[in-house]
Amino acid sequence: MKIKGDTKICAVIGDPVQHSLSPCMHNAAFEALNLNYAYVAFHVQDLKNAIAGMRGFNIKGLSVTIPHKVEIMQYLDFVTPLAKKIGAVNTVTNENGKLLGSNTDGYGALKAVETEESMDDKSVTILGVGGAARGIAFTIASERKPTRLTLVGRDLQKAKRLTLDIAPHTNVMIAAASFEELKDIFAHSDIIINTTPIGMHPKIDECIVPEEYISQHHLIFDTIYNPAKTLLLQRAENRFARTLNGIPMFVYQGAEQFHMWTGKIPPVNVMREAVEKALGYQS
Ligand code: NAP
Repeated sequence: MKIKGDTKICAVIGDPVQHSLSPCMHNAAFEALNLNYAYVAFHVQDLKNAIAGMRGFNIKGLSVTIPHKVEIMQYLDFVTPLAKKIGAVNTVTNENGKLLGSNTDGYGALKAVETEESMDDKSVTILGVGGAARGIAFTIASERKPTRLTLVGRDLQKAKRLTLDIAPHTNVMIAAASFEELKDIFAHSDIIINTTPIGMHPKIDECIVPEEYISQHHLIFDTIYNPAKTLLLQRAENRFARTLNGIPMFVYQGAEQFHMWTGKIPPVNVMREAVEKALGYQS
């Protein structure tokens, strides 16, 4: 890639940010389409000044990661209704000097699952009720028609609070549950999405779901992408369930960002290969 006088800059901001996979994914996409864009990572602690810098330097787009996803909303000119509902922004697009905040995390999860099967008319369960779960749950409840959406938290009150946040915005039936109820929940679920960090590197021997709860009719989606096959996904395979890891979600949330910044159809396969290569999953 040649940086020129008119190269458009995009970046990820976070604290920490040095291990982000976004630079390799987005630069691979820019190169594949021969676009005059470059993507870098900024370690940001002073968010207010960073956003002023975005305006001053006319930076085209930002990916936003921990811990800035909530605070950033107050510094933007517009925030999409979905990102407002979620209460977090992971994408900023500079539209002729006006900064638009959006949230593509839930969309990434939705697209990833729907490479396998539609969520409409399915009973969908989300394990964990943190930031990722919030984005995914709001997006599913806004965009799809599952028969039921169950939110499972180790803190039942927190799970209930999330259901109460979502309920006014949707007709989908939403229930809160605790991990003690997992056996029954698996019995009535079709699609299960793990958003807890259980099983993530380096604690790869951990899994919150007993293998015997999983059956052939389940689609088990673990949002973790390191390792590529968590113990949960290994157990799901043992039970002949269909499985999905966190890479497609990451790629599709990035692909949506790419589209917003460039207006071009994202080269999803190139993006995925770049991420898998960076994770050491292919030569
Ligand atoms: P978060 O806000 O910290 O939420 C984590 C959730 O997991 C919380 O609800 C937490 O419970 C729960 N949890 C943690 N340890 C637990 C345990 N031992 N037992 C039961 N529940 C437990 O984090 P996040 O931002 O949502 O991210 C969570 C995961 O999502 C990460 O592991 C990451 O790999 C994945 N993720 C993937 C993508 C992707 O693109 N593939 C994007 C974002 C996130 P409390 O609510 O009680 O604290």
